Amino acid sequence: MYNVLFVGSEATPFIKTGGLADVIGSLPKAINETGDAEVSVILPLYRDIKETWRKDMQTIASVEVSLGWRQHQANLLTYVFEGVRFYFIENDFYFGRDGIYGYMDDGERFVFFNKAVLECLPHLYQQPDVLHAHDWHAALSVALLKTFQSAPSIKTVLTIHNLKFQGKMEHDAFFDLINLPPKHFSGFEWDGMVNCLKAGLFHADHITTVSPSYAEEIKTSYFGEGLDPILLERANDLSGILNGIDTESYNSATDDALYTHFQYHPTLKQANKRFIQEKFGLPVRDDVPLYAVISRLTEQKGFHLLTRVASEFLEQDVQLVVLGTGESRFEHDFTQIAEANPTKMVTKLMFDEQVARQLYAAADFFIMPSKFEPCGLAQLIALQYKTAPIVRETGGLKDTVQPFNEYDGSGNGFCFSNYNAHDLLNVLRYSFDVYHDCNRFSKLYDNLTGHSFTWFTSAKSYVDVYKSLCRAESYELVLA
Ligand code: ADP
Repeated sequence: MYNVLFVGSEATPFIKTGGLADVIGSLPKAINETGDAEVSVILPLYRDIKETWRKDMQTIASVEVSLGWRQHQANLLTYVFEGVRFYFIENDFYFGRDGIYGYMDDGERFVFFNKAVLECLPHLYQQPDVLHAHDWHAALSVALLKTFQSAPSIKTVLTIHNLKFQGKMEHDAFFDLINLPPKHFSGFEWDGMVNCLKAGLFHADHITTVSPSYAEEIKTSYFGEGLDPILLERANDLSGILNGIDTESYNSATDDALYTHFQYHPTLKQANKRFIQEKFGLPVRDDVPLYAVISRLTEQKGFHLLTRVASEFLEQDVQLVVLGTGESRFEHDFTQIAEANPTKMVTKLMFDEQVARQLYAAADFFIMPSKFEPCGLAQLIALQYKTAPIVRETGGLKDTVQPFNEYDGSGNGFCFSNYNAHDLLNVLRYSFDVYHDCNRFSKLYDNLTGHSFTWFTSAKSYVDVYKSLCRAESYELVLA
């Protein structure tokens, strides 16, 4: 049995801004169920973590953390949720603020978090065999572990959930905050800056990312976000393991957020559609296809394409609901298009888990035309609610959505490959045709119920990574 410590910046049910939280919230349970490893998780204790959770947390240690000339205290708290032990690093100066990210000193905040994690290691209930960090916010824990420890016995894994976000800081931060001997500088530096993700990629024993296709893509300059040279260099230690989702939580037959539970029967799904139409002031009709977007409204998600062709698409007899927050240009454009088409489109600029679930359940089609997509969970959640995804073939979208083929009846969604607005419009129109053809649509609907993306296989793949690292360690010891 291997003890594994996940280091991350968000996890359901405590705090969430996106798919990373879904993964860190649900993967540990799945890995623990394999019986081969036991995962615990360590997170910052943000102010937005609700009192309902905080009141049952137990403080187990207090440590001093030094960032250059600064000395801060960190309290270590713990709480067990659904059998998984969570640890929290408490420091009000860095985390007693609204929200999670987006502060000028985010670099300093997460240097603090990663240093605090290492200071807290001796106080954990179980010493990890493997430290498994997620994304740039946690990547420094890997790098610091490798550089601090004289004889590192803990193996390290870094998972890239999104290569775009790297945690870059002025190069002075290496001396001012990270404060290691100069000989380590090159392991933390990229393009003249301190780069937290690069530091993790350079030092980790193994690197994973969240889909096989993205693992290949990021070795190219188009998808590599400037880090492709180091990913190529580490290609032998890089693997793609597809994300799953918590199929107990995202379950149309039991989800308490829904207006009506349903499993296979389309008419019960229709009741959820009517509920959303009424809730958002759209005409209540069964015979019109409802398209949904539930997303961060950012360039990555391909909204240049959708805003470009939405008005043209809305000339057809369709309904579109956009739920999301993000870049102001997309918030503005989606709001304007909805205002120009009040009987067909609604834009809700908010992040609301309950509404999201209701909308997944209500929609016939889910639009996700991403420019790049490491894995994407939203299309998997849509499939759980029997909603056909319409996606661009990239990264994890390519690995999880197969285009509907009306001749052999295969496929669970609609796909296009070029990053081109009219290619998106073409598949939107094709989905509209399929919707109005009973035979084709019922075949597609049957296919939506066929497969669910549980964590089962992926959890085993992570355990295989831990095993191979720990075995290599014992082999090295025997040889020594
Ligand atoms: P990301 O790149 O944002 O992590 P994913 O598809 O991997 O994209 O995961 C997005 C997660 O965030 C999904 O669980 C999705 O349902 C949720 N989500 C996105 N936008 C909203 C919103 N406005 N309200 C509620 N949940 C949202």
